[in-house]
Amino acid sequence: MLQGLSISQILDLTGGKLLYGENEFVVANIAIDSRQVVRATETLFVALQGAKASGELFIPDLISLGVKAFLVQKSFDEDKIQMEKGLIFLAVADTREALQKLAAFQRQQFKKPLLGITGSNGKTIVKEWLGQVLSEEYTVGKSPKSYNSQVGVPLSIFGLSSYHQVAILEAGISKPGEMDALENMIQPDLGVFTNIGSAHDEGFPSRKAKILEKLKLFNRSKFVIYQKNDSELSDSIEQEFPADRLISWGDEPGATFMRSVKKLEQSTRIILLKEDLEMLTFKVPFSDSASLENITHVLVAALSLGEQSTKIQQALDHLKPVEMRLTLKDGANESLLIDDTYSNDLAGLRVALDFMKLQRPKKRRVVILSDVLQHGAVEEVYREISGLLNEYEIDQVYAVGKEVHRISSSGSMEISLFKTTQDLLQGISPNDFQEDLVLITGARVFGFERVVNFLQRRIHGTTLEINLNALTHNFNFYKKQLNPQTKVMVMVKAFAYGSGAAEIANHLQSMGADYLAVAFTDEGVALREEGITLPIMVLNPVKESLLLCRQHDLEPVVFSISFLRFTAALTQKDKTKLSIHLDFDTGMHRLGFDESELADLSEILLANPQLELKSIYTHLAGADEEVHKEYSIQQLETFARINEKLKLMLPFAPLAHALNSAGILAFPSYQFDMVRLGIGLYGVEVTGKNEGVLKPISTLKTTISQIKEIPPGGTIGYSRKGVLPDGGRIATLAIGYADGYDRRFSNGGGFVMIHGQKAPIIGNVCMDMCMVNLEGITAQEGDEVIVFGPEVSLSDLAKRIGTIPYELLTNISTRVKRVYYLD
Ligand SMILES: *Cc1c(COP(=O)(O)O)cnc(C)c1O
Repeated sequence: MLQGLSISQILDLTGGKLLYGENEFVVANIAIDSRQVVRATETLFVALQGAKASGELFIPDLISLGVKAFLVQKSFDEDKIQMEKGLIFLAVADTREALQKLAAFQRQQFKKPLLGITGSNGKTIVKEWLGQVLSEEYTVGKSPKSYNSQVGVPLSIFGLSSYHQVAILEAGISKPGEMDALENMIQPDLGVFTNIGSAHDEGFPSRKAKILEKLKLFNRSKFVIYQKNDSELSDSIEQEFPADRLISWGDEPGATFMRSVKKLEQSTRIILLKEDLEMLTFKVPFSDSASLENITHVLVAALSLGEQSTKIQQALDHLKPVEMRLTLKDGANESLLIDDTYSNDLAGLRVALDFMKLQRPKKRRVVILSDVLQHGAVEEVYREISGLLNEYEIDQVYAVGKEVHRISSSGSMEISLFKTTQDLLQGISPNDFQEDLVLITGARVFGFERVVNFLQRRIHGTTLEINLNALTHNFNFYKKQLNPQTKVMVMVKAFAYGSGAAEIANHLQSMGADYLAVAFTDEGVALREEGITLPIMVLNPVKESLLLCRQHDLEPVVFSISFLRFTAALTQKDKTKLSIHLDFDTGMHRLGFDESELADLSEILLANPQLELKSIYTHLAGADEEVHKEYSIQQLETFARINEKLKLMLPFAPLAHALNSAGILAFPSYQFDMVRLGIGLYGVEVTGKNEGVLKPISTLKTTISQIKEIPPGGTIGYSRKGVLPDGGRIATLAIGYADGYDRRFSNGGGFVMIHGQKAPIIGNVCMDMCMVNLEGITAQEGDEVIVFGPEVSLSDLAKRIGTIPYELLTNISTRVKRVYYLD
């Protein structure tokens, strides 16, 4: 943060009042997420009211972490907290607004040029590339990742430091009225409007209205950079701003910079002709039009900030792709690697360390990092990096480069120094890491991919990539459909629908799910062994596993009178409590009690207080299909009746739940106390009514092992089922039915995507491989192949072979490597 804040300053800025505690305290840090608090004693925690939960719920935990200062809503109930000396509570009408006011104040302390970016697409890429280009000459501060929202922007501003010589912040909106608050915080001196597209059109009365809303960001800017290639956009901007505040570029004459583009073999030349006829030439390492548009914004912005064109070209020569992914990979010896080899600045390091903190605990936290390639302020940068590494309680650092020796340990952190990546690779062995969590983060020139490869467990060519941001998105979508008090149980049975139970469960735990459910006891035991602490219901335990359940704090479902008697007898002797759930059959006819058994059932429960009844539930047989609506309602009404009756029979009320993913959308008035979320979390909307609102979370990828030319009449694979009468080219892929690639995809039943083009399966799918026809596709051995993912819908694939997406997901073999990332 640029400037520490006293309590009275905060009260002044936010119009709040002191609810509890004393006035003497200086805040050096502001946090809104309880999991990301570091330097607790100097932190002000701002409790936001989220869609999921109020930040106030986390206050007790934060107090035990050492946080002293809290900013809460006026409605906050002090009696809920055990107040003690040293705590400070400030109350405001609206915590989000207060957070924004604090950000606006911090912004005003930043006296160097600040550049704001908005537009429909490319904001983050323009920001990252411009950051790289300006770093040749300046120390640059910028928003981490795409922190561009109403709360992302304040966090970005709190990340600025006084030694930054220029700052770049991005602003994103989705509805009218949102830009004013962002403008008030960012107040850019210079603006870039990237482009206007269809994103969020639904939120605005017209395209023009959307442009005008976005343009508000530049109300106080000295200059606005924009393109003239889109006349709707440029006309609007030119009507709103006087000509002396405009800097434009375009491919036709009439712009401040007229651009011409010449495609070369491996690169593209961009020529910018200024109005005074000065000509500037740059070479960039790509040729697609979106990248060329983004880089032209970067060039014009860097030139407008006075950067020399030779420096700009130097940066372009080692421009790195903006793949802002943090990827989790399995390392040797049960270690977990966090691959962050694309990001190389302080903001990125902080995000990566936060991500590290959220992972399941391992033996040690290790960071491998390189020099930060940033011009100037060397001492400050490394002092800050040292601060971060110590705050995040890193046990061991491997530092590579010429500058990075400046980092220092203020406690038990060990530091090993290496001059080059080669030295590092010679100096360490994968066996130096045993059940450790290892973050690998470095500038591109250091080639840290080699370090990741060196430490990674060998994998075969097929991987299932899981996008954890999409998972969060889907979870929040369902959460928004529910009443605030309704709990969410997430089904992580069958390896979390194929996505990998432990990582998904860990992520759900941190997102605030209330319960987990697995099918069998073993699955629950595995989760406990991975450190998952949420309550876990076991849908279909065998009698023999009941004591194992108790030992691992798992909660079995009991579904018949005989099973209930058995459970009661088993636990009667030692009287140790066992938590159980009851399944009621209201029409699914699978497992469960009948309504007529209520009297017997309650008698057994009353006689066996060691059985703690946590919940009762039923399952719908056709929630996803309109034709079964009446049947579903009948089931739900039956269950409601059972619930009422049972309440009269028992002195306590267990939780009641009935709805699965489809049910949540179709029967919102039957939420009872909890819902059971399954397939929807994994990105498949089975009712088809909300197409497009869920994000697919998984992408199944494989590689081309070999490419072959087939002569006319040649046949392919077992039983010679594939035939190419005129010959052709085929590719052999490293995936077969043993990986879960269904044999029904054989002979044109399925297809894969190679470089965005469909390649049909030819011949029978084999156990570990399959072949595709490459007609019309240019590809090489080793190229990536998408089996399904955001661009190939799982539901469509399932339909092609007469099954459902559930089956395709859960069939993916455990030998396929799961890789998790945040984008
Ligand atoms: C699997 C399962 C669910 C989840 O169903 P989805 O259709 O995946 O949402 C809910 N309840 C029970 C009892 C289940 O077995």
